[in-house]
Amino acid sequence: MTFHEDSLTLEARFRRATLLGILSVSVVAALATLLVGIVQQWETSDLTGLAFLSSWTTGLCLWLRSRPRHTTAVAITYFALSSTSSIATLADGLLLDRDPVFGMGSYVPWLPLAYVAAFLVFTGRKALLASLGVYAATIVVCGVYVAVSSPSERAAALSPLVQILLSHATYVTLFALLGRLHREYLVAMRAASLAAQDAFRDALTELPNRRQLAVWLSQHLSEGDRVAALLLDLDHFKDVNDRHGHAAGDAVLRQTADVMSVTLSYGARLGRWGGEEFMVLLPHGDERSAMQAAEALRRALAAHAHPGIGVVTASFGIAVSRPGDTAESLFARADEALYEAKRAGRGRVGVGH
Ligand code: GH3
Ligand code: MG
Ligand code: MG
Repeated sequence: MTFHEDSLTLEARFRRATLLGILSVSVVAALATLLVGIVQQWETSDLTGLAFLSSWTTGLCLWLRSRPRHTTAVAITYFALSSTSSIATLADGLLLDRDPVFGMGSYVPWLPLAYVAAFLVFTGRKALLASLGVYAATIVVCGVYVAVSSPSERAAALSPLVQILLSHATYVTLFALLGRLHREYLVAMRAASLAAQDAFRDALTELPNRRQLAVWLSQHLSEGDRVAALLLDLDHFKDVNDRHGHAAGDAVLRQTADVMSVTLSYGARLGRWGGEEFMVLLPHGDERSAMQAAEALRRALAAHAHPGIGVVTASFGIAVSRPGDTAESLFARADEALYEAKRAGRGRVGVGH
């Protein structure tokens, strides 16, 4: 099965794009730092750490690129690795090396990425708890350092430690607010996309509606493409409603839409024009192809018995676009042709000239 990015939800696409961006930047940053370390002959343990960082960021980046649906798994792994490696770097610098400047210097700039990962993996309260977990681990490491260090070490480290804790509290608050804004944005986008769909779809038959048909026709005409329009009107439909009720009439409209959909060939565009009228647009169609399509539809409808009602026939009006036509002039000719078909006895095809 091939993967289509469109099939991902809006939210999944956003999370994937953000994670891919963070990972790509992390890969470049880790490889560049590793290169500098090699050139400057840093300690082996630092180079090993950087090589590890380069490998897992590259691995995650390739994983996410090849398996877009694994976004959550990649994000969880990223969160776990980035938070533990950042905390480990801080603990290494502060507690083992007893070097607060290096320990904090290599830790502070990267940790916010773990908070971003937390908000990519989880939502709402869970995201806040995950990032607060990382924050708590930071406080513990800083607290242990304060407890075990000498008074002079403690005095020197106090200002940077307080700044780490305050700046990280600011990051967590900021990401929590952004996470909330993002959720509200997604809800609004979903509502807007549903409303946009409804604006161009007929609720009863789920076919494209008159507005959509008009847009399609205007597109064809403005591009100078020839198009054949076929207007279909059910015969004596009012009698169906009168005899069997409005709900039965609705069922007839839905079934008519289904019969037409399966009968029409690929490329034909079908919509509900309004009431018991439907419209078919045949891009690049001529009178002959429109006649063939109308005849196929006429026969299919004449062969379809609606349960408890029987056959409901239809009349057709055909019009083929001419240079200078507008949507209105073409529809008007199709309507005239339909009127002629009705006048001539219904259940037949009229051609507008
Ligand atoms: P003709 O053969 O001349 O087309 O006759 P007709 O009875 O089909 O035409 P007329 O215009 O007199 O009646 C159309 C009827 O379609 C009237 C209206 O109540 C009904 N109708 C329009 N929209 C709907 C709908 O969504 N559901 C139902 N059940 N009926 C509808
Ligand atoms: Mg009508
Ligand atoms: Mg009718």
